[in-house]
Amino acid sequence: MRKICALLTALTLLLCMFGGCKKTCQHEWGREKGTFDRFTGVCNLCGAVCEHEWNKKTGACSICKKYCEHTLGTSEEKACEICGYTIPVEVTTDVVGATTEFAVIPHTWDWECPEKGTVERLYYDTDAYGDGTTYHKYVLVYLPYGYNQADTSKKYNVVYFQHANGSNRELILSNRSLNVIDNMFYRSAIEPLIIVCTTFYMDDTSTVAFDGWSEETQSSFQFYKEVTEDILPAVESHYNTYAESCDAEGLIASRDHRAFTGFSRGANCTWNMFCYAFEYFRWYSPMSCNFVGAGKEAFTNEEAFEALKASAEAHPGMPYFIFAASGGDRDIPAVRGQIRDFLSHNYFSYGKDPEKDNFFYLLSDYDHGNYASDYYYNSLQVFFH
Ligand SMILES: [Zn+2]
Ligand SMILES: [Zn+2]
Ligand SMILES: [Zn+2]
Repeated sequence: MRKICALLTALTLLLCMFGGCKKTCQHEWGREKGTFDRFTGVCNLCGAVCEHEWNKKTGACSICKKYCEHTLGTSEEKACEICGYTIPVEVTTDVVGATTEFAVIPHTWDWECPEKGTVERLYYDTDAYGDGTTYHKYVLVYLPYGYNQADTSKKYNVVYFQHANGSNRELILSNRSLNVIDNMFYRSAIEPLIIVCTTFYMDDTSTVAFDGWSEETQSSFQFYKEVTEDILPAVESHYNTYAESCDAEGLIASRDHRAFTGFSRGANCTWNMFCYAFEYFRWYSPMSCNFVGAGKEAFTNEEAFEALKASAEAHPGMPYFIFAASGGDRDIPAVRGQIRDFLSHNYFSYGKDPEKDNFFYLLSDYDHGNYASDYYYNSLQVFFH
């Protein structure tokens, strides 16, 4: 009898080794405890694969904690066919006197994207400042996965991005931000485009605000000259863009395919671009800063509004869209106050349809951090349509 018992035990163990126990594994054999790996959903002890129970609100499995990769796609409108997750949209109606929206990107966009774009430098010279100096500078250029310089039949829209005080061109083209951008093109319906990161600093090595010459210390806004006279021609003649020629005429003719965006000081720069380079850009996204004017100026909300209005009215027949964005209490509160003031004039057509609207405001609950890539998922559903 003992022998039979031993034999049965041995047989059971053997069966287990070949996977017979997997379905009934409680992930605890003797002293060893097994758990499902939250990235693979596989038990590290018995090798069983979790039979996921998806939470459609989070897109995560309640048993193994793995996040669904939504490989069949998901958006605000379309639920993932695997887990039921829909990209959530945060809506407010009582903050700026109009409905604000923020579509929150899924956690999985933080995971390493299998299709990465490339980042490279493009050098140019600028003597736009009239100080007798020619500055040798570069922009950092993001080329989406699949971009082929030799295929000139495929044209790309271009988004320009200006960084914040004390920051640099790498701000959104590194680490998490860059990966989110890759994932945005890989996992959503947003069409891949070129992103060009500019700097208003003259010294290439400087990332410190107020260190030497920089836009924010000037008495007037001059950076637009460098952008329109030197950066746009350099970029748009080099890459496969919609600009058929890179003189002023050709660049203005292709303005529908160009956006200017920026974060913090770069957002003020973006508001300024609306007033100084309107002909060259149709789309604007100032993120996390109100319009405070040029250089050391300090606009009142009324002055800021009048400046925007004057620029729009100086260019009849040229459509535009401002997609402003900021966070909540932990971001710059002046943004919300200014947006409320802007909208109270009933001058802009508020909404997200660029056929008839020209102004929208994204309100997140984020702080004054770099969430440009999160905000792009929202603004780029409006731009270039
Ligand atoms: Zn197990
Ligand atoms: Zn699971
Ligand atoms: Zn899913």
